[in-house]
Amino acid sequence: MDYLENLNPQQKEAVLAPPGANLVLAGAGSGKTRVLVHRVLRLLDDGMAPNRILAITFTNKAAGEMRERLFASLGEGAKGIWVGTFHAVCARILRAEAEAAGLSPGFTIFSRGECLTLVKRCMAAANISEERYPPRSVLDQVGRRKTSSAEAEDAEPAPFSIDATALKITPAYERALREAGAVDFDDLLARPLQMFRRHPEVLRKYQERFEEILVDEYQDTNPAQDELVAVLSRAHGRVFAVGDDDQGIYGWRGARVENILDFERRFAGARVFRLEENYRSSGAILGLASRIMGEAGARHEKRLFTRKPQGEAVCYLAAANAEEEAEAVLKRLIESGAGGEIPWGDTAVFYRINTQSRALEEAARRRGIPYQVVKGQRFFDRAEVQDLAAYLRLLIRPDDGAAFSRIVNRPPRGLGPERLKAIAREDAPGVTTAAAEAALDEGRLRGNAAENLRLLLDTLKALASLRAGPARLIEEVLERTGYRAWMEGAVRGSASAERRRAAARAMEGAKEFIAAARAFEARIIEEEGVSPESDEARTLFLEELALMGEADELSGESGALSLMTLHAAKGLEFAAVGVVGVQEGLIPHGRSKDASLDEERRLLYVGVTRAKRFLCLSWAKERRPDGKKDSWATQSSRFLDGLGSELIKRVGDHAPPQRRAPRGFRAPRDAGDSRYADILAQEKAAPPRKEKSAPAVSPAALGPFAPGARVRHKKFGLGVIRAREGTGDGTTVSVEFENAGPRKLVLKYAPLSPADEGVDGGENRAV
Ligand code: ATP
Ligand code: MG
Repeated sequence: MDYLENLNPQQKEAVLAPPGANLVLAGAGSGKTRVLVHRVLRLLDDGMAPNRILAITFTNKAAGEMRERLFASLGEGAKGIWVGTFHAVCARILRAEAEAAGLSPGFTIFSRGECLTLVKRCMAAANISEERYPPRSVLDQVGRRKTSSAEAEDAEPAPFSIDATALKITPAYERALREAGAVDFDDLLARPLQMFRRHPEVLRKYQERFEEILVDEYQDTNPAQDELVAVLSRAHGRVFAVGDDDQGIYGWRGARVENILDFERRFAGARVFRLEENYRSSGAILGLASRIMGEAGARHEKRLFTRKPQGEAVCYLAAANAEEEAEAVLKRLIESGAGGEIPWGDTAVFYRINTQSRALEEAARRRGIPYQVVKGQRFFDRAEVQDLAAYLRLLIRPDDGAAFSRIVNRPPRGLGPERLKAIAREDAPGVTTAAAEAALDEGRLRGNAAENLRLLLDTLKALASLRAGPARLIEEVLERTGYRAWMEGAVRGSASAERRRAAARAMEGAKEFIAAARAFEARIIEEEGVSPESDEARTLFLEELALMGEADELSGESGALSLMTLHAAKGLEFAAVGVVGVQEGLIPHGRSKDASLDEERRLLYVGVTRAKRFLCLSWAKERRPDGKKDSWATQSSRFLDGLGSELIKRVGDHAPPQRRAPRGFRAPRDAGDSRYADILAQEKAAPPRKEKSAPAVSPAALGPFAPGARVRHKKFGLGVIRAREGTGDGTTVSVEFENAGPRKLVLKYAPLSPADEGVDGGENRAV
């Protein structure tokens, strides 16, 4: 095996770097991931045993690809290598060291959906309003405290904040996890660190074991992950990290770009390698990408060049609404060769928030384009998948109360919440199998309900004793528990069309679940030599499901257009790419404050740099906030303002629409993206201020945008504010522009600055 094949001199140097701390810090598409894979090949070639190498990727999908590449090059020789995400690697360590970590060996990993259910339950018990404190944000914050640095952990939360709520429910939340014998995602990172502190001998074992630790996408590590790398590498001092500070896009989830920027200081004697040739994108695409980043704040100066042809100009489409936008982008992709010379499998459209996929899906269906929505974790959150997973969990651990409560009445068995009260014991959370047995023995339940419960318990016992792999077990669960008959009944007999559709989707979901289980079985036989029929396989399968990340597609359908969020697109590449919703309110996202604006810019950079040959950006003048009737008007993204036609070809009318956003409008928020919810919640939760009927505010209090002030607009130039109306987000100003005439603008979105501060100064930060 020639591990230096297809590498340029800079890349070779990095692959050949002597043992120690090495960092490859380089721009998008410069071959960082390739260097990391080749470094592993080199270590193996040098004779390092596979099980002494720990390679950490950002998604399970990336881990899978790396494993495949290694197996393709080395076959049996790659067996035993540790490749996975931080979460997967930590789960494996915890599983092996359960006792030292204070966990039972069969511990469960709760998916995000399950954790959310727990948070909601804890909030309800403490009488905390979900309206004011979105449970997702509370859950994020509970997690952030577990995986942040010590100082942040001790920080006093602001009153009425999400943080304060998170702190309040944490004890109940942790108790519930413990009682369910479960850990959450953040525990996976925090628990090993705790264990290493308490049991230095366990740490020593892993320190000695992992001779070299390799980490991809280092810029998106959080403090806990960074510390894991630091402590685990202490014995051999060998870390090989690659990343790009321009691609840090998970700050809102607690990632710290500083981890990569401070690498040289933290790992003494670290060498830094830079790569400058981009092998991915055309000249036009790379030119735009460099200009987008050229405007960003603190960053490492990086040069990137490409020898690829200049290629087609990047286009920026303006459409009337999201439907037309989707249609126009797909049309452009087809014109550029998608579906013909470029297979659909090598194309993608990215968006900022999940709900944007709907318009794209509809447009793709209309045109008969094969597509897949890359959804990962969201698959696991589907009701039928969680039900089936709960059945599997019960087969491993009959005392899993959360799982039993979930499935006891699915399909319906006349065992609704009221009946369950007769079974539950005061002191136990949920209803366990044992409690159900006891209730039957003591005659606390009678009639049909009792018969059904007896049948369920017998079925579970029979299933548990089956020798079968996860795929067959799921099939048996579907048959023997009446779950399949229930779904089929709903598809045929339900009066509501919506129900019939939901049931049909559930049947699809169940099928996909079985397919995923089959793929899993094939893999563990080949790679780990584990029998699919063993108890271990059942546990590993559930673990894999729970660990699925955003970018991990279950049944990776090839040959289809991929639809995914910009966050999920990291590290990937496609021949032709569309990015929709490149506009104020989405990119940058509605509530971005100064600090996160740079992150929003990086997100656009990540999207742009995924494209190899063709790239089309777009925005829609009118967009419907999810599920609401009102639509709102918006304008093109500030990140593309002022870029000339040599960089970007504008198509359509890009002038901002003149409609006013409805008062009190908020930018759409996706359920999965809660980073601004904190700010929202603080606003909502603040003690109500007395509304003054006629606000007598002095001009000084209105800052630089009081009536009479001279202002500068990025497009319209100089003008004078004539009037100002409304408060907060709904504030509008009427401006008389010297050249563009009178305009009414929403202050929050208008690129206005005080006239004497220059074009880029103080962009309406005062509001
Ligand atoms: P990102 O920052 O997006 O993660 P990256 O720096 O990890 O990008 P890779 O994905 O490793 O970049 O490489 C980008 C593309 O360039 C891939 O298709 C890869 O196969 C190709 N490539 C990398 N190095 C070379 C090389 N020396 N010769 C030819 N192609 C290369
Ligand atoms: Mg990469």
